[in-house]
Amino acid sequence: MEKVKALVREMLRSGLVEGVLAPVKGLAEGDIFPSLITEESEVDRIVLDSYYPFSLAKLAAKHLGKEMKVGLVGRTCDVRALIELAKREQVDLEQVYSIGIECEAGKFPFPWCQRCEYLLPSMADVSFYLDEAVSLNTKKGSELAPLTDAQVVETREMSKEAKERALKRQEEDFGQLAQLEPEERLKYWFGYFDRCIKCYGCRNACPLCFCKDCYLQPHKLIVKPGGNPPDKLFHLIRLIHVGDSCLGCGRCEAACPMSIPISRLYHMLYKELFVVFHYEPGLDLSSLPPLGMITEEEMKEPGVELA
Ligand code: SF4
Ligand code: SF4
Ligand code: SF4
Repeated sequence: MEKVKALVREMLRSGLVEGVLAPVKGLAEGDIFPSLITEESEVDRIVLDSYYPFSLAKLAAKHLGKEMKVGLVGRTCDVRALIELAKREQVDLEQVYSIGIECEAGKFPFPWCQRCEYLLPSMADVSFYLDEAVSLNTKKGSELAPLTDAQVVETREMSKEAKERALKRQEEDFGQLAQLEPEERLKYWFGYFDRCIKCYGCRNACPLCFCKDCYLQPHKLIVKPGGNPPDKLFHLIRLIHVGDSCLGCGRCEAACPMSIPISRLYHMLYKELFVVFHYEPGLDLSSLPPLGMITEEEMKEPGVELA
């Protein structure tokens, strides 16, 4: 992926951006961490062929503010998270050039990556594909044309075979559970919740958990303070807050020290809500998360119940 690095160098050299947020090599073998690259000499540290367990989009929203002009080099799930955060007014997309990197089908062994239906970052300003061709997908992306010597191609979509492979894995992971009666399903998940040590790792890692005054904190008096495992509300509140927009990115599960398959739960709920709302998070700014958009009138309609 030398073409990606070459583009990043040109973006910095030309002064188009103040920095580029990207995953970079750490000191130990295989170590990856996020970094805001501001010098051309640092560009070679960018890692483009590995999975990384942090959300660059969340870091951009939390630490860079809305004033700084930056680039973000990340995988499709990060670009989609960036778009969701923009809908929630946490980032200004006008200030960020998103450079998405295609993921190879089946390469990352994690269950969430195996289930992923968005391997190609067609929603990014710029997409780099596995053969190092590039597509400039937006007006902002086209501004970068003079800065790259990569072969420019039309925006590509995920292949039918890769999509079928992801859907098959979803069927394997969700199918049996979906057949259970609601009480049995609840029992299944409550069994996992009993392992929870309330470390907040899942919340801290999830790009969609951005509230500064989080409802899971003890001072909100919704989830009882102290005690392990925490009250089940701990999980149910987060599920209600992000379930309609879950990106299936697995950051929550990667962060969980108790190996609770949280992303399976969230992704599964999202898929069930998709059947009702047809909401695909992270593709464009025009559609908004459905649960946040329900009006009081709609809540009163027959068949719409909170419990
Ligand atoms: S969740 Fe999808 S886009 Fe994200 S790293 Fe895994 S395969 Fe790539
Ligand atoms: S709930 Fe988990 S899988 Fe869903 S968006 Fe958040 S971190 Fe990603
Ligand atoms: S990361 Fe795991 S152990 Fe920590 S709060 Fe979340 S579910 Fe519980």
